[in-house]
Amino acid sequence: MKRFFAEQTEENFVLFSKEESNHIVRVIRMREGDELIAADGKFDLHCRITEADPMCVRAEILSRTENRANPKADITLYMACSKSDKLELAAQKACELGASAFVPFISKRCVKVPDAKSAEKLAGRLDRIAFEALKQCGRNIPMHTEKPISFRELLSRISETDLVLFAYEAAEESLREAFTEAKGKKIALIVGCEGGFEEKEAEEIVAAGAKQVSLGSRILRAETAAIALMAVASYELGN
Ligand code: SAH
Repeated sequence: MKRFFAEQTEENFVLFSKEESNHIVRVIRMREGDELIAADGKFDLHCRITEADPMCVRAEILSRTENRANPKADITLYMACSKSDKLELAAQKACELGASAFVPFISKRCVKVPDAKSAEKLAGRLDRIAFEALKQCGRNIPMHTEKPISFRELLSRISETDLVLFAYEAAEESLREAFTEAKGKKIALIVGCEGGFEEKEAEEIVAAGAKQVSLGSRILRAETAAIALMAVASYELGN
């Protein structure tokens, strides 16, 4: 059954935003009496459309069930600004794999440092990708996304996080032991851009409290590393 994001949930009915309503009525061509799932951030609401208004669809709630697809762990994936298709692919997969947040950051070897305007556009694209991935994969707690943060801001967020795993291409440390005391903690994962990290950057990330880990003996593409590390973290944390 098709899923849509509810904008307003009352006792026995939901209302949808203009954008979702237009999608329901004009794109998916649903009508009064059709049934759908409304996601409201915690529950999956099995609903029947009572007013198929493309400006504001109204649906009565038939039943509500706890959403089983929502993340159980608190994992933020930080990824250095790479070519936008790589960043967007990693964001989409991070949402499917249960990330709570996806945050791009600037590092020395980022090929293109977005200016204010392109940073806003990137933030909008990431938000849209996260929203579509949310509906596609069946979770209903949105993945938070942001416009790129500075390297300094990354370091300060590391110091506020319980466990930070820094995928560093020059690291020897195994990933295996990294999750031993991770249950229930706020986790951050850090992955570099195509050019990787300067040695000094790696030292600063570790000094801020991150654990550097190797993802194996082969050098992975940035998007591969982001997806692989996110998958391992979710697996290890039962996410
Ligand atoms: N240009 C660099 C590689 C960058 S790969 C070089 O040739 O050495 C992009 C990012 O993916 C890296 O910064 C790192 O975060 C991650 N990554 C790729 N392969 C990795 C590995 N084997 N171990 C740890 N991290 C890896």
